[in-house]
Amino acid sequence: MYEGDIASVLLTEDQIQERVKSLAAEIAERYPVGSPQGDLLLVGVLKGAIFFMTDLSRALPIPTQMEFMAVSSYGSSTSSSGVVRILKDLDKDIAGRNVLIVEDIIDSGLTLSWLIRNLSSRNPGSLEVVTLLRKPDAVKTDVNVALIGFDIPNEFVVGYGLDYAERYRDLPYIGTLDPKIYSDDGDL
Ligand code: 5GP
Ligand code: MG
Ligand code: MG
Repeated sequence: MYEGDIASVLLTEDQIQERVKSLAAEIAERYPVGSPQGDLLLVGVLKGAIFFMTDLSRALPIPTQMEFMAVSSYGSSTSSSGVVRILKDLDKDIAGRNVLIVEDIIDSGLTLSWLIRNLSSRNPGSLEVVTLLRKPDAVKTDVNVALIGFDIPNEFVVGYGLDYAERYRDLPYIGTLDPKIYSDDGDL
């Protein structure tokens, strides 16, 4: 699939699945079952976090509930501006709930810092973040993320939910794109 488009595999399917399991174990330790805040509420950020969300929720040995949010950050297809618009909001009130934001990747951290401010204003009982991937620039932001799957180099990656122009999300691994893909697409 996508023959010739992927320059290198950064994380194999096995590496991702192993890390998802260990993250699930870490998360389960933080959220005791039977808390007065009810089941842990996973808030997946569409669309990039979709596979991470589904794999993580099934690897978690505690009951969880799922909500999804879709946001778009203005900017080019490969970098974000920090100006965020809600495309799909949560269906439920999160006041008093233990909320865990499930993110695919933190690059500049602008999207996430906006999301944290937005969700905090709804008075959750607790609010934390788990991200599968983190890029080096993320350390420059004030976003404090305790749970990180992998620190990766500053390269544009696709697969396991992550897209380039809506393609490649369906790859089971994470890889870098051949530069010819960007140049073929002109201004993208
Ligand atoms: P930030 O606001 O942290 O700069 O960017 C966050 C969003 O930008 C991610 O949720 C993702 O949609 C997109 N993004 C950042 N880096 C990458 C990357 O390497 N590959 C892909 N496919 N998307 C990325
Ligand atoms: Mg994201
Ligand atoms: Mg994208």
